[in-house]
Amino acid sequence: MLNQTTSDALFTQAKDLIPGGVNSPVRAFRSVGGTPVFMQSAAGAWLTDVDGNRYVDFINSWGPMILGHAPAVVLDAVRAALPHSLSFGAPTRRESELAQLITEMVPSIEKVRLVNSGTEACMSAIRVARGYTGRSKILKFEGCYHGHADAFLIAAGSGALTLGTPDSAGVTAGVAQDTLTVPYNDLPALQAAVAANPSQIAAIILEPVVGNMGLVVPQEGYLQALRALCTEHGIVLIFDEVMTGFRLAPGGAQELFGIVPDMTTLGKIIGGGLPVGAYGGRADIMNQVAPVGKVYQAGTLSGNPLATAAGLAQLRHLQQHPELYAQLDATTAHLADGSRQIAQELGLNYTVNRVGSMFSLFFTAAPVNNLEDAKQCDLPAFGRYFHAMLERGIYLAPSQFEALFISTAITDELVDKYLTACRESLVEAHR
Ligand code: PLP
Repeated sequence: MLNQTTSDALFTQAKDLIPGGVNSPVRAFRSVGGTPVFMQSAAGAWLTDVDGNRYVDFINSWGPMILGHAPAVVLDAVRAALPHSLSFGAPTRRESELAQLITEMVPSIEKVRLVNSGTEACMSAIRVARGYTGRSKILKFEGCYHGHADAFLIAAGSGALTLGTPDSAGVTAGVAQDTLTVPYNDLPALQAAVAANPSQIAAIILEPVVGNMGLVVPQEGYLQALRALCTEHGIVLIFDEVMTGFRLAPGGAQELFGIVPDMTTLGKIIGGGLPVGAYGGRADIMNQVAPVGKVYQAGTLSGNPLATAAGLAQLRHLQQHPELYAQLDATTAHLADGSRQIAQELGLNYTVNRVGSMFSLFFTAAPVNNLEDAKQCDLPAFGRYFHAMLERGIYLAPSQFEALFISTAITDELVDKYLTACRESLVEAHR
């Protein structure tokens, strides 16, 4: 048994002060049970908790830490920025440098606005799309997560799904009415929804590779058909690349699949671990944003000097080292294929979905192509597996409905450690 004495005490205290003891719901371990691990420090692939236990990190702060924890290149940039003040609320050179780099790496983005989170990016992007088209409705996919703005908490994925609240209380009927939802990877359902709402849909927003119902891959031709449908109907196509941006390729999922969206939202990796998000796209659309256009959006800390320093350093490193993507792909293939093989050897035939450095082991033998498929998983067995892995020093997402995010700090030796633990934990979870 792990010694969790200090985590237990801190969690008890936190629960008195913070709802559920956490500042983001899925951290509370509700779906897997037990006490969340309180972290002390991390370096490279390794996390150390407040009781001194060490774990290999396969979540990496839900995606941002693609170079592992505390990489020198990012820390040095933050250290260099630190003495020059933590915020100005005025323009700085680095904001344009970061914008320049984003437009180079993601060419569909001609103009970009920096914000402080993925939620803000997605919330702002749909406002801009509404301003641009003069239409009210947006369409999203069941099980996709675009942050916690009201419009997205309809059939939401991620923690909302994990906790059984995909349709949040507190979202008004009026807002819900303007959010259409259809199943992912179901083209006829999408076509029907578009046909039923002629000239009313401002934007279709999606995760081009879904990370928030576990990892779900777009089926052959699906993204192309979606692009064509949006063009035909004058709908703004928004790729939410908060997870996939700079991860699946330097230019994200849109580069990998060769699709040009009208707008893109970014977060996570773009801040190197500090709070940054961004939304951008075609210049004619982005010129709707104040002070050029009439769509208002602002932020006291937007373009924050430390956050831009961290993000710029991490993105530059990725741009200058394209070989890291091949490394991440090989490492993750090894993890995913190994997990599939072990499950098969144990007679479990579990489904493993992977794209680049994101993957999920689903506790079901059926294919997982949408939310309904993901919901078929054996969640109690997943909970037992999660804790068995934790005991063996492997830190996974505490929910079946999440992807794992692999960092460049995962070595072959750590892949072997993971696979050994995976075999033992699958056995333990099904005893
Ligand atoms: N979009 C996607 C695809 C996400 O995965 C997330 C968060 O996990 C968000 C948006 C929201 O980002 P944030 O948590 O930074 O607000």
